[in-house]
Amino acid sequence: LTVKVQQVVDLPAITQDGKAIELLLNAGLSTGFEHSLHAGAVGIGLYRTEIPFMNRSCFPSEQEQTLWYRHVLSAFPKQTVTMRTLDVGGDKSLPYFPIVEENPFLGWRGIRITLDHPEIFLLQVRAMIKANHGQNNLEIMLPMISSVSEVDDAIRLINQAYYELSSELPEQEGKLPRPRIGIMLEVPGVIFQLKELARRVDFFSVGSNDLTQYLLAVDRNNARVASLYDGYHPAVLRALKTIADESGKYMVPLSLCGELASDPGGAILLLAMGYDKLSMNPHNVARIKWVIRHIDFQRAKVILAHALSLETAKQVHGYLNEQLELVG
Ligand code: PEP
Ligand code: MG
Repeated sequence: LTVKVQQVVDLPAITQDGKAIELLLNAGLSTGFEHSLHAGAVGIGLYRTEIPFMNRSCFPSEQEQTLWYRHVLSAFPKQTVTMRTLDVGGDKSLPYFPIVEENPFLGWRGIRITLDHPEIFLLQVRAMIKANHGQNNLEIMLPMISSVSEVDDAIRLINQAYYELSSELPEQEGKLPRPRIGIMLEVPGVIFQLKELARRVDFFSVGSNDLTQYLLAVDRNNARVASLYDGYHPAVLRALKTIADESGKYMVPLSLCGELASDPGGAILLLAMGYDKLSMNPHNVARIKWVIRHIDFQRAKVILAHALSLETAKQVHGYLNEQLELVG
């Protein structure tokens, strides 16, 4: 199978009946992403900026960050790179920024931290916007959004950074490109605010890892409850379907960047729901591409309809395993 799978690396991710899906990469290490250029993906769907913040003893300067981000943006010059603003807290900590809380996953995390520390946020988005000068392939993505006011506040800060940088730029250097801004859908509450959120942003990207954790109230890293953590849970699948339907209705480009995208059965369900951009770790791209190239979009929709009618995650697993056997 590995040989079979490798053969499709450079081919497009397109179903047997012609539905094209964009496969993108999840990345974060400042070194080691170059080999991902050849993984068969068409861009970076999630660049986790907190990763290069981690193995250090102090916050990186604006200059350091600008160099990192330029390195990434210029490695993928013709492809979109979606950079997520700092997403620490929860399970990710910085040695020089300790957070002690009883419930870190429900606490000070992601956008909540950076809005409380606008100096950290402004420095980071300034570095991103500077790095994007002469590139114009940057998108900025905001993690852990739970309300529209967080989006408004974050966009205000990004605009501030953009206008300040624009006024600092010598005229002969041209105009700074304005990045598209999107949010992660990973806190269940946003499912009931999609209309208001859609008016504010350029794209949505579902973080199915956190969405599953919060929807089912199961810690994604706790082995004792690991069997309850399941992206095939009917509540998760129905939430994902609602998000796809509503994003379509409000015409917001939608992607998914959690682990569910790299699960073959998950990918089939997602593409049938209308997710036409899936972002995953580089080593999963070829396998998912192989699955997409061997399935019919119309057939995937039939599979989805049946999967959505099932009552337990176990039934969904059983049913998808049967269907995957048929694909090969
Ligand atoms: C997610 O929550 O699904 C996600 C992609 O982000 P992270 O795993 O970094 O929280
Ligand atoms: Mg997340």
